[in-house]
Amino acid sequence: MDNMIKTKKRGSLIIISGTTCAGKGSVIKKVIEHNNNMTLSISYTSRQMRKGEVEGIDYYFITREEFEQKIANGDLLEYAKVRYGEYFGTPKDKIEDLLNSGKDVILEIDVQGAKQVKEILPETILIFIVAPSMSEIKRRIKARGAETNEQILDRFETAYREINEIPKYNYIVVNDNLDDAVKKVESIIVSEKCRVDRIEEIYVENKEEIIHEFLMGKEYDNSIKTINDAIKNTK
Ligand code: 5GP
Repeated sequence: MDNMIKTKKRGSLIIISGTTCAGKGSVIKKVIEHNNNMTLSISYTSRQMRKGEVEGIDYYFITREEFEQKIANGDLLEYAKVRYGEYFGTPKDKIEDLLNSGKDVILEIDVQGAKQVKEILPETILIFIVAPSMSEIKRRIKARGAETNEQILDRFETAYREINEIPKYNYIVVNDNLDDAVKKVESIIVSEKCRVDRIEEIYVENKEEIIHEFLMGKEYDNSIKTINDAIKNTK
């Protein structure tokens, strides 16, 4: 049977940004675990690898010179100096291939990068994740420990700057409970799939033909026969 509604096969590009300590990494991890059609893009960065991070899983760690070469070659979909003057950027080629093969791709990038991608690919879905309050951010930063005062200050500066950018996003998710936040992100993605502007074609068979087939053809006879058989069998 032909499906009546044919929608775009191309996957969705989803950007997830968020303030410091919003828990966006945990949300994304669960969303990816639940949805095997979804991939997280791995960024390039010039920043130092931290303890526990893995090359090719957390980032592709490259030098500043290598990063600048990638910019010059046009290899990046977007890039920004996010923290302490270090570069972060999204590889261009893999993303297009994944989207064209029907995969949904998540980019975990900052607000500067989100703005650049939205300009190039306006259908991109922008989701911003926030911690419930600034005092909760304070609590989470303290609990993390192991950061210099300068780094903590930088986190707060960035958080305040990024909160001002929320109106540029399509959706906001408050992460006061991980499972709820995951459900919200998944619901957003499902709803986006149902958008009317994803329809490529609406195909309906000729009305007279369908009615004629229904009244005269097999479908009608079969349905009567099935009902009669069912009645017999219950006796
Ligand atoms: P970190 O990994 O140092 O804790 O945080 C990195 C910050 O850079 C996060 O805010 C993250 O969203 C952002 N980021 C990571 N990868 C990219 C990227 O490819 N492009 C941009 N613009 N930001 C990124």
